[in-house]
Amino acid sequence: MIYLDHNATTPLHPRALAAMLPYLRERWGNPSSPHRFGNEAKAAVENARESIAGSIHCKPNEIVFCSSGTEADNLALRGVARALRSRGNHIVTTAIEHHAVLNTSKTLESEGYRVTYLPVNRDGIVQLDALEASLESDTILVTIMHANNETGVVQPIEEIAALTSRQGVVLHTDAVQSAGKLPQRPGELGADLVSFSGHKLYGPKGIAVLYVREDTPISPVITGGEHEHGLRAGTENVAAIVGLAEAATIAFEMSETEGQRLRALRDRLERQVVSSIERVKINGARAERVPNTSNVSFYGIDGESIVLALDVCGICVSTGSACSTENPEPSHVLIAMGLDAQEAQGSIRMSLGRETREQDIDFTVSALVDTVERLRRISSVRNE
Ligand code: PLP
Repeated sequence: MIYLDHNATTPLHPRALAAMLPYLRERWGNPSSPHRFGNEAKAAVENARESIAGSIHCKPNEIVFCSSGTEADNLALRGVARALRSRGNHIVTTAIEHHAVLNTSKTLESEGYRVTYLPVNRDGIVQLDALEASLESDTILVTIMHANNETGVVQPIEEIAALTSRQGVVLHTDAVQSAGKLPQRPGELGADLVSFSGHKLYGPKGIAVLYVREDTPISPVITGGEHEHGLRAGTENVAAIVGLAEAATIAFEMSETEGQRLRALRDRLERQVVSSIERVKINGARAERVPNTSNVSFYGIDGESIVLALDVCGICVSTGSACSTENPEPSHVLIAMGLDAQEAQGSIRMSLGRETREQDIDFTVSALVDTVERLRRISSVRNE
């Protein structure tokens, strides 16, 4: 099997699993308990917090553990919106965000907030002058993703942060797809809030971090006990937190060398696709991208059919268009980049990872050549 869907999820690193097992077996205490079982669990959580702070270059008290990247995004948006309600009700985001941000923004609109959805250019990049022009006296939050999950295109977050901090507006970035893939440490992006998720960096599912820079105005969304500095109530998922810390250490340590390896493999993939298949387009190719992601449109056929055909060959990829029976709309990301519905519908995303080798790329390209040729033949017969 060839797995090229690492932006959906990654396998758990064996060292992360080994770190977790004691907390699933014998050390099952509640970190809030005052006795030795509790103390042991509490120490594990606080050691993990320190370790992650070291990995992402921030202070331990700036780490808030959440149950998912989705929850971290929700806490950032809803938490800041609520905390700053008396100061304003305008939020700025982009048209290409993950649904964790987009649908949360829509919900906030229904609660009385105004949201501006900035466009992107054909390369998938937000324009700084458009961002600057969108800021108003009642703007309380800007939320712009770091790397896009479908195309891998990276936004200039440091420049965006310089702008928002000059204007005194809180900045959140969803770094779920960039954390551990780029050498930049989330705590050094200049954003006030940064989300990232365990299962995208070879850690466990169901655990994530919201980095909250000290003194950022934010209210809790999940209320209850005083966990996570009063920002996220609920008994901590100790084993997952420990696993995330281990996975993050490894991911950031190897991000530079692994990034170079993956970039070379991705370039090989794209070179071969472009040279051996006609009427293809690499989406976001001219922009800076995370090194593992390739989004390709194949004219005249449906991405969904390619995904299914490759699955039969033992190759796992995904549609760039997120087009499925539940969501028949073409990708909002590709449409925002100016693709027409047919081009967007004909796209697939291949996201490489640590197990990907050159022979996997070569095999995938040869399977793609056959698949695309066959599907185009069928579709031209159908259209006659
Ligand atoms: N943000 C981005 C950019 C993502 O790609 C994802 C997951 O695909 C999420 C947020 C949600 O993360 P989680 O799966 O941990 O809820």
